[in-house]
Amino acid sequence: MSEPADKRLVGLIGWPVEHSPSPAMHNAAFEALELDWEYVLLPVEPRKGRLVAAVEELRAMGFAGANVTVPHKESIMDHLDGTSAAARSIGAVNTIRITPAGALMGDNTDYLGFLADLRDHGVDPSGMDALVIGAGGSARAIVHALASSGARRIVILNRTPGRAEGLAESIRGRIRYTILETAPFPDGLTRSIESTRLVVNCTPIGLTDDPADARHFDNIDLGENHVVYDLVYTRATPLLARAARCGATAIAGLGMLVHQGALAFEIWTGLKPPIDLMRSAAVSSSGGQP
Ligand code: NAP
Repeated sequence: MSEPADKRLVGLIGWPVEHSPSPAMHNAAFEALELDWEYVLLPVEPRKGRLVAAVEELRAMGFAGANVTVPHKESIMDHLDGTSAAARSIGAVNTIRITPAGALMGDNTDYLGFLADLRDHGVDPSGMDALVIGAGGSARAIVHALASSGARRIVILNRTPGRAEGLAESIRGRIRYTILETAPFPDGLTRSIESTRLVVNCTPIGLTDDPADARHFDNIDLGENHVVYDLVYTRATPLLARAARCGATAIAGLGMLVHQGALAFEIWTGLKPPIDLMRSAAVSSSGGQP
């Protein structure tokens, strides 16, 4: 890659990355603020040695920073020079800042992005009972966000129950006032929904047209008081369709994507991000639900 010497580069490390709206979102913001910056895709296969080589390349090429996505958000932590308290609590990094001396500092803007989007929709998780579906990297950020905002009780449902229990245990050790429970997915779904107000899907269910996806949520008992948040943002998922049919508040995760990106933009440039422009760029590039 040959770039003018003063051009600053940031990028997205993940696999796959080609469908990400992040380049469109960030490059629109750089252009609007007349910054000579570029956001590029950095596909890194999940194979031995690839991640460490990518990290060295970032340093050698003088990148200003990077975002990190599936499947590297947790493993990248072993290759950084420092991490924020939030990233350590969550156990995952989605944003790296590279200092002028070449130190890689990891942070997590996913959890704040989620909370900012809830706020945009007038939802305050403090005192709420919540149900989180999934126990992977994004679920870690969401459970951290809800517990640190004072949620009263969080039930984590996961296909692999041991992973849900591991996540609950890591939060129990740090935040004692939130009650954490776990149950297997999908068996625990019906019972858990009855007693919760906020439902957050942190799995890729709904990303494709797999009919099994729709079946999980076909008959769940949602009502007007439920708020249903789906981290999948590229289409109207069966879960959000069911929520809308039942009169519940249905929120797609595009706002979280935009807010986590805006926070990363600010970490890298030190400037206030043009968030409305970033949102429009993300919507047009992803076909997302605003
Ligand atoms: P991840 O770390 O791979 O975790 C995936 C989770 O989904 C695991 O708990 C897994 O269960 C579960 N799962 C996967 N396929 C399933 C299926 N067919 N049935 C039931 N459970 C299933 O992924 P992630 O990083 O958490 O991302 C999850 C989703 O959130 C992705 O669609 C991603 O694009 C989206 N996301 C959106 C944003 C945003 O800004 N809106 C941010 C981050 C992620 P097991 O433990 O049993 O494998």
